[in-house]
Amino acid sequence: MERSILHSDMNAFYASVEMLHHPEFDGRPLAVGGDPAARHGIVLTANYPAKRRGVKTGMALWQARQACPDLIFVPPRMDLYLRFSHLAHEIYMEYTDLVEPFGIDESWLDVTACASAAGDAPSIAEDISRRMKRELGLTVSIGVSWNKIFAKFGSDYRKPDAITVITRDNYRNIVWRAPASDLLMVGRATAKKLWTLGFHSIGDLALADPHILQAHLGKMGLILWTFANGEDETPVMPDGYSSPVKSIGNSTTSPRDLTDEDDVRAVIFLLSESVAARLKEHHFAGSLIGICVRDDGLAWFSRQHRIPIPTNISDEIAHRAMELFRANYTWDRPVRSIGVRVGMLQADSYCYQTDLFVDERLREKQFRMDVAMESIRRRFGHDALFRGRVYADRLLAGLEVHGDAEDRRGGSEDSRSFFADTAGTAGSVFTDSGGSGGPGTVWPGSGGVGTATDPAVAGAVHPHGYFEHGVRVFGGK
Ligand SMILES: [Mg+2]
Repeated sequence: MERSILHSDMNAFYASVEMLHHPEFDGRPLAVGGDPAARHGIVLTANYPAKRRGVKTGMALWQARQACPDLIFVPPRMDLYLRFSHLAHEIYMEYTDLVEPFGIDESWLDVTACASAAGDAPSIAEDISRRMKRELGLTVSIGVSWNKIFAKFGSDYRKPDAITVITRDNYRNIVWRAPASDLLMVGRATAKKLWTLGFHSIGDLALADPHILQAHLGKMGLILWTFANGEDETPVMPDGYSSPVKSIGNSTTSPRDLTDEDDVRAVIFLLSESVAARLKEHHFAGSLIGICVRDDGLAWFSRQHRIPIPTNISDEIAHRAMELFRANYTWDRPVRSIGVRVGMLQADSYCYQTDLFVDERLREKQFRMDVAMESIRRRFGHDALFRGRVYADRLLAGLEVHGDAEDRRGGSEDSRSFFADTAGTAGSVFTDSGGSGGPGTVWPGSGGVGTATDPAVAGAVHPHGYFEHGVRVFGGK
């Protein structure tokens, strides 16, 4: 039987929730973002009046202010957004228990089973859209199709407050005409590569010889070909609902083998800085630190360690990661790639029992150093500064660990880095997750689909950040 799949996306989610709580700002441009304490940060989401004035997700606050001088900034309240995310999930669950969250503001629903009883899939979509408006005060855009990829495409196709049905009759006219970059998992780097190869639209991809795509993009080429043809059969994975974001991690394959602890330390610090920055951007802290290590023989392991106090501080993450590495690596062979991730996330407004043995002043100092470093990098580029231990090796320092291009394109709550893998719990560092990774990540054993390094990306060195939640990663816009 043909499947009926919806992809529902809450429009300008953080900003819409804030607008509900600030009726006095009605009609005015508003952005959620920033770290009010540090007066730095980026736009996490803007409402539609702000978007019309040129405010974009991912912009530095000062840039947003330049584009729109009367922009109202409000600091993010993750707890509140998670509550709304949960409420939306409860509505979805009334239609089907096959609900797969994709980031905090999106979900796939497989409504095949209930489609006949509750009307056809488009009318279920209309019903959901009405209820979200009436019960939560939020608009959604919903895509309806027979596979997850086209459903997702449909929810991006028209927004806000729209329903797009992609059928076997119309997909060539709608999906195929869109640029290849509109396809899920085609990040900026992959899109560029595809463009160079002459594949400009999704239709170009669909009609390409899959072997040619494979030759240029590796396994990812075949996956994209399948996606473009509407042949993705990935199931909607029901997920015990907790926070939709389970962990944040980065990994990298080094341009040269890492032969001693100093090499490893440099890379772990780079990765930890990038993970810490992204945790802070999304106002998370986590209490599970994990590493994943692969040697040049491609053997690998992963280890994780629970810490008493949740953190988003790069020093703390790096030191724990180093401890894990030292305790587990025997140096039989040089190291090829490393990943660092932080799980068991909670909002960073968490309260915790102060530990007598923890130097709170030192933590505060390290936190502030991170914030300063991150803001300098945001303004002047990642290369503007390095830790001495990293800078000592220019080759390693050149690793693009900040490389958020893929998941930044669509935004942050709106992140694009994605991973649709289905199988593979085997290699996951964290037990609460299925597969892992975004393009460019190298968590092994995650069962396939493109977890391995995105070959489209220059060299082997392009560790994209990714978010992992439940089954997969932060969703698109
Ligand atoms: Mg959204």
